[in-house]
Amino acid sequence: MHKGYERSKAAFAEAKKIIPGGVNSPVRAFRGVKGDPVFVERGQGSKMYDIDGNAYIDYCLSWGPLILGHAHPDVIGAVQEMAAKGTSFGAPTELETEMAKLVTSIMPSVEVVRMVNSGTEATMSALRLARGYTKRNKIIKFEGCYHGHADSLLIKAGSGVATLGLPDSPGVPESIAANTLTVPYNDIDSLKLAFEKFGEDIAAVILEPIAGNMGCVLPLPGYLEQVRAITKQYGSLLIFDEVMTGFRAAYGGVQARYNIDPDLTTLGKVIGGGLPVGAYGGKREIMELIAPAGPIYQAGTLSGNPLAMIAGYVTLKKLGEPGAYDRLEAMGKRLVEGFLASGKELGIPVTGTYVGGMMGMFFSEREVVDYDTAKLCDLERYATYFHEMLKRGVYLAPSQLEAGFLSLVHSDEDIDRTLEASYQSMKQL
Ligand code: PLP
Repeated sequence: MHKGYERSKAAFAEAKKIIPGGVNSPVRAFRGVKGDPVFVERGQGSKMYDIDGNAYIDYCLSWGPLILGHAHPDVIGAVQEMAAKGTSFGAPTELETEMAKLVTSIMPSVEVVRMVNSGTEATMSALRLARGYTKRNKIIKFEGCYHGHADSLLIKAGSGVATLGLPDSPGVPESIAANTLTVPYNDIDSLKLAFEKFGEDIAAVILEPIAGNMGCVLPLPGYLEQVRAITKQYGSLLIFDEVMTGFRAAYGGVQARYNIDPDLTTLGKVIGGGLPVGAYGGKREIMELIAPAGPIYQAGTLSGNPLAMIAGYVTLKKLGEPGAYDRLEAMGKRLVEGFLASGKELGIPVTGTYVGGMMGMFFSEREVVDYDTAKLCDLERYATYFHEMLKRGVYLAPSQLEAGFLSLVHSDEDIDRTLEASYQSMKQL
């Protein structure tokens, strides 16, 4: 029996007095689904508990990082042990080298890696590096892909920017925006045209190789290979933003799954095991331009701090156990296929995707292949569905234009319960 949201409502009213919109990151405010956010007290395993005493099976998982679920004992134990020795030194530790060795052993294209504190920092730094390496100014990004909130990437962005229906953000100077070209995702001809026009000045193409910020959208067959070929042809760098997909779409990320060799890769989320981390890495020849090995500057007071390193290290090790990604994908398959079956039975147009520990469910008559088709989804219907699911103890992303996430500790019973809740919720639509 759901206990209502009285305390959460009061907490939100209080927060709004002193935090912009009451939240420290926009999508948390539930604007995409209306209503007030639930305030969280704690998480354990696949469940999250709000301050009114409601429990939820969580498919948001802090927007992706918690692939071992909330408060995994191995992660918490390692963090506690490390915290007792100190939380940050601002001097190198052996743990950072161990972490770098682990990451480079998992991600095929990453030969050298630098730790930062967020996905935003990772993409921002990778762009600076690409521009410094190629001595070119322009970059290409794809409509509906989100790469964090650095100025040059806040153009036609997905995630919260899309959810709130905001135009390109005020505060980004035109001179910076002018160097960001955008083309539709999964449309190779548009990319070719952009290269024909500006190819000599394009430093890099950055993309989410599986898009997760306009819902979960897969690349069409052959698309990533063609993007790789064009960037090579013009001497531009290919940056795979695997902040979301790294260690999630597959252990080695999308690049391993599709066997593509990007020049640079950005990482975040899972690599921090729930603590604030990002990373960027790639070919040695390019990465060695980063200070102090080379002249391109990038630094961080808390970069590579021991708590984040140990949380990420333990998480990545655990994910290397046999069968982890098969299990994640099997759960995603059951959830998405169940969602599609309910839609069919109840006459509600739906479509969906799943890959590794990520999934997308859309109320739409059409397959979602890019930002334009993502925007055709029925957002009102999703909002109603979201709140019906919440009442039934399932916490989904509070926006249809976001991916859903699974953890290794979600149980078959969690999936059964979710499918039943989904069917009952869809009946209310
Ligand atoms: N890149 C991608 C693909 C993301 O999904 C995100 C965040 O959702 C980012 C970059 C930005 O990461 P952060 O929020 O850690 O700055």
